[in-house]
Amino acid sequence: MMGVRVLLPKYHAILEENGTAQYLDCKHIPVSFETSQSTDELWELHDETLRSFHVQNTIHSPSLLDLKIELADRLFQACCFCDHKCRVDRRKTPGVCGVQEARIATEFLHFGEETVLVPSHTIFFSGCTFQCVFCQNWDISQLPCGTSIAPEKLGNVIEQRKKQGAHNVNWVGGDPTSNLLYILQVLQNIDTNIAQVWNSNMYCSEETMKLLHGVIDIYLTDFKYGNDTCAKRLSKVDGYTAVVRRNHLLASEHGEMLIRHLVLPNHIDCCSKPVITFIAKHLSNSLVNIMAQYKPEYRAYEQKDIARSISPEEVLQVKEYAEKLGIHQI
Ligand code: SF4
Repeated sequence: MMGVRVLLPKYHAILEENGTAQYLDCKHIPVSFETSQSTDELWELHDETLRSFHVQNTIHSPSLLDLKIELADRLFQACCFCDHKCRVDRRKTPGVCGVQEARIATEFLHFGEETVLVPSHTIFFSGCTFQCVFCQNWDISQLPCGTSIAPEKLGNVIEQRKKQGAHNVNWVGGDPTSNLLYILQVLQNIDTNIAQVWNSNMYCSEETMKLLHGVIDIYLTDFKYGNDTCAKRLSKVDGYTAVVRRNHLLASEHGEMLIRHLVLPNHIDCCSKPVITFIAKHLSNSLVNIMAQYKPEYRAYEQKDIARSISPEEVLQVKEYAEKLGIHQI
């Protein structure tokens, strides 16, 4: 069984100042573009730059990060940040996620995440692309009413938290996906070498995944369901497995992976086992946290199958299955 250091080598290099956070490299990659260019032209330039970039010694303007912000701004105006693809102009109206401008519910140094991540500067956005009936953070995720904070100001807070010992910036919610433009704008305002963690349900669009490429160091994912029927009934999303599996594969190509799987009662055969099997087959270099803390919250009591806490036997069954398939558990 490989250790955490072996599976997250780049993250540890950043922690020890032997490596650079990807978003900082992005600022050192010169890109020449005009805002008058078409979106197709800018995507072509973006993708070509990612294929053959050269990180320079000095910060450039415009840089690859500036190009990503321009593309994110265009997506924001006909929103396709996640696979709901609402295509609403977020300057004027929210979509399914209920988020218009980015709102922060809270931020703090978190000591309750996986040991390798703590202390983690966790930034909780209001709003979510999912509507999970069992959400433990439903007050944050389903009621997008946090505080609006200017990107420069949050940048200052991140610099402060780094000085206080933060090992990383942990973008979460709800879900961070609706706030991609804002996150890139915050990163434009900081220069500290700190790893970026994308803590998400991974229902991102392909465009969002491309914009995260070269920015995110660790994907801290929430891989819940093994089929679309459970995802639709319990989280109100369509096409879950194709989108989330695709995004895990994309993420693993350009970042390090820490995958969380929350064991749900009565969902071992339909969800836990297919998720673990997929990870064993396609994401074998990932760290996996099999989570045993499920208890019915929010509207979970409306669904018979998940209206009770998880049993120790169910968790053990999933953990033994993962062990048999050679999963790197933490
Ligand atoms: S982030 Fe997703 S749910 Fe929210 S408006 Fe954009 S496409 Fe719709």
